[in-house]
Amino acid sequence: MASVILKNINKVYSGDVLAVDNINLNIEDKEFLVLVGPSGCGKSTTLRMIAGLEEITSGELYIGDTLCNDIEPKDRDIAMVFQNYALYPHMTVYENMAFSLKMRKIPKKEIKSKVEKSAKILGIEEYLDRKPKALSGGQRQRVALGRAIVRDPEVFLMDEPLSNLDAKLRVQMRAEILKLHKNLNTTFIYVTHDQTEAMTMGDRIVVMKDGVIQQVDSPRNIYENP
Ligand code: ADP
Ligand code: ADP
Repeated sequence: MASVILKNINKVYSGDVLAVDNINLNIEDKEFLVLVGPSGCGKSTTLRMIAGLEEITSGELYIGDTLCNDIEPKDRDIAMVFQNYALYPHMTVYENMAFSLKMRKIPKKEIKSKVEKSAKILGIEEYLDRKPKALSGGQRQRVALGRAIVRDPEVFLMDEPLSNLDAKLRVQMRAEILKLHKNLNTTFIYVTHDQTEAMTMGDRIVVMKDGVIQQVDSPRNIYENP
């Protein structure tokens, strides 16, 4: 079970910047939840706290039944995809996808089969020997997704994963990510500043402003009662 529960979560950065102001959120197992709001409203900070990449100032974060405030990112059953892909430039696609499994001391044979299976799902099996710089933006984004799915996590976190792509590819990748969510049958938490993206992708949408949650509802209800 991979529900994600945020209880009275606050984040204060140095210099007294209150980035997240007492957020309460109950993200259900297997749902596709979108966090939307203007730049600077605290979306990324929220996601990074769930990933463990940012310390929680106060409040409680549960993943499943586990209180995760003090659990290392690598020990959370989570994978994150970033806007800038964050691929290792000196490694091939294969090595990029294999890296986190290697860190976990998974046997080589198992790594190979996981990487190949994930590459197939994303249609990048022909590029396994290439370096990221020899790939298009869309291919790089697929590798970033591949690097997340090889780990078979309970929860996927995506921080503006499509904002570096051109408009046409962005629309195509939205559909691919939704398909991935359906196939993997896991919890997705997706951050975007793009309202159309939020409305077309989310089962549920969380609207943030100035570190506060303003609205949590289905796309339809948000459309009808903005
Ligand atoms: P969003 O993802 O919605 O654009 P962020 O979570 O990145 O918003 O930022 C929320 C607020 O926190 C902003 O005011 C931003 O300037 C501030 N902030 C983000 N990261 C840091 C940091 N490392 N140090 C200080 N302030 C930060
Ligand atoms: P090493 O840790 O020895 O440097 P790698 O992580 O590069 O090894 O590769 C681990 C295993 O995966 C090796 O057995 C290698 O043959 C295999 N492998 C590496 N690249 C590919 C690829 N593009 N396609 C299929 N298998 C690969």
